[in-house]
Amino acid sequence: MSENCTHDCSTCGENCAERENAIQKDELNEFSSVKKVYGIVSGKGGVGKSLVTSLLACETARSGKKTAILDADITGPSVPKAFGLSTRAFSDGRGILPVETRLGIDVMSINLLLENETDPVVWRGPIIAGTVKQFWTDVIWEHEDIMFIDMPPGTGDVPLTVFQSIPVDGIIVVTSPQDLVSMIVEKAVNMAKMMNIPVYGVVENMSYFTCPDCGKKHFIYGESKLEQISSRFGITNTARIPIDPEAARLVDSGKIEEYPIRPLEDFAKGL
Ligand code: ADP
Repeated sequence: MSENCTHDCSTCGENCAERENAIQKDELNEFSSVKKVYGIVSGKGGVGKSLVTSLLACETARSGKKTAILDADITGPSVPKAFGLSTRAFSDGRGILPVETRLGIDVMSINLLLENETDPVVWRGPIIAGTVKQFWTDVIWEHEDIMFIDMPPGTGDVPLTVFQSIPVDGIIVVTSPQDLVSMIVEKAVNMAKMMNIPVYGVVENMSYFTCPDCGKKHFIYGESKLEQISSRFGITNTARIPIDPEAARLVDSGKIEEYPIRPLEDFAKGL
């Protein structure tokens, strides 16, 4: 904040915390209520962000919380497939209704609106960001206790718009052991800091592989850096997910809710 702050952000060019707080968040429609919102972020695609989003939603739904997933990964939506959702979302006149999974998780994703799920979304950044905002404002999110937003990877235009327009309570960073050595976690943490959003925790995916024959753990992408990272950034909530072909198989067949292993059970308890 400037020494001479007048608390009128429209007349000042400084990028301070006060300005961030002054940015107007988008309102939900009159039929919706969402108590808590968490953004799931990663530095790049393919590290398992959607898998983590799906597993977290399964955990909170099982614990009795009315759970929602807003799939903000517009150009690479993978949430409907993981839950085997093939019905289209439709409007009941009040707004668009999310599609419910077997566990009762409400999902909205661009793939639930496209005629064919293989249709590519070839839109420019502002249109994509506008679509995500509409998923927040125009979908009927009825009595949701918790919402997970599967964010597009990176720190670009769309994540920025989401953080500015949706009241996100915390972010969860998904990494693989290779990413942790790079600047990726730091970038995500710093972006959250700039937006005044707390980091709830870090999930290291593809952390290791347990040999099904001898039970030995193999650190295929190198030793875990999770402890190093958590102490460096003061992040206390952490979890590891091993490489598991069964998880990939269940995602591919739309049955992630049937995954019998629960690597995020404890991690999700504080959400
Ligand atoms: P992202 O959302 O970061 O792009 P996804 O969650 O879509 O990544 O994962 C990418 C692919 O890797 C998917 O096919 C998924 O099933 C697979 N995958 C992710 N995590 C694991 C894991 N721990 N074990 C096995 N396969 C995984």
